[in-house]
Amino acid sequence: MFNKLFSFWSKDIGIDLGTANTLVYVHGKGITINEPSIVAVNQKTGKILAIGGPARTMAGRTPGYIAVTRPLVNGVVSDFEVTEQMLKYFIDKVHQESFSLLPRPRVVIGVPSGVTEVEKRAVEDATYSAGAREVYLIEEPMAAAIGARLPVQDAIANVIVDMGGGTTEVAVISMGGVIASRSLRIAGDKLTDDILRYIRQERNLLIGEATAEALKLHLGSAYPLEEELEGRVRGRDLVSGLPKEVSVSSEEIREAMQRSIKSIVTAIKNTIEETPPELTADLVNRHIYLAGGGALLRGLDELIAHETKLSVKIVDDPLTAVARGCGFVLEHLDTLRPVLLATQSDNFF
Ligand code: ADP
Ligand code: MG
Repeated sequence: MFNKLFSFWSKDIGIDLGTANTLVYVHGKGITINEPSIVAVNQKTGKILAIGGPARTMAGRTPGYIAVTRPLVNGVVSDFEVTEQMLKYFIDKVHQESFSLLPRPRVVIGVPSGVTEVEKRAVEDATYSAGAREVYLIEEPMAAAIGARLPVQDAIANVIVDMGGGTTEVAVISMGGVIASRSLRIAGDKLTDDILRYIRQERNLLIGEATAEALKLHLGSAYPLEEELEGRVRGRDLVSGLPKEVSVSSEEIREAMQRSIKSIVTAIKNTIEETPPELTADLVNRHIYLAGGGALLRGLDELIAHETKLSVKIVDDPLTAVARGCGFVLEHLDTLRPVLLATQSDNFF
């Protein structure tokens, strides 16, 4: 009875705590927060100076004692206190917008599949300390699949690839559970780093991370393009030490990222190979679904289709799929509880 009243009044929320972006979905409202997972900390005082977008603009422009960091590395909490602060900031933001007298929110939050018990517990604890009344954990690929409205509770194979900043997760889901999965630490950040290194080695040009990221978005592709692209990039010439501008082609950028992308394709193939034959047979008339920011890389769908001989689809709005999935679970907790992961508090009942 109280729970019913609570859930009516409190602003329950779903959180996609990604390495690159944190999104918050508010029950009945949709996504209200979408910010980079970045925090600026004054290391002298330990105080947080900025979170999200404002912290990102500080990156590379601060005095030495201010650290601009991403508290999540490879999808897991690397700095517990900063993660907790960041979550608290986002939860408070939602909570204060309603009435702060309302009960604290219940939170559905995503964790990468295959995280250890310790890593799971870190996310759960940080969410409780940040002010949640109840915490429910869900595997990110499961959330992405639900966000894409795949029939995760049916006895068929749903294959989802969620490529974010720090990790790429591949999962085969059937009957509300993950049947086979792979999580690899090669994703968007690695591709950006590949580009940065390539330009340095092949073109003798030193570029920053933001420039490499821009090259990835503007020229990046995983499969030959019908019309290859050309762009210009500025950096510091390694020979003269002076600023220089050179032109770069989409072929070069593809070559730079080739090895990393190949490992992602291999992970997808291996995960499918691990799937029981009855389920694999379904795949012939189903699709591989791509989610996360990486899904937007040009030609990634074509490459995967070419390599697996299966049909590939990019989910609608891939960057928000996990958050929308967490939100959907929140709004259908009665029927979707089985898709959640076991948590510490389950042991009490
Ligand atoms: P996370 O779940 O780790 O927070 P996201 O799903 O938010 O990650 O995706 C962020 C990643 O997606 C970043 O590495 C970003 O560079 C990449 N990304 C976003 N848009 C594109 C695009 N159009 N092409 C290629 N990569 C993209
Ligand atoms: Mg993600």
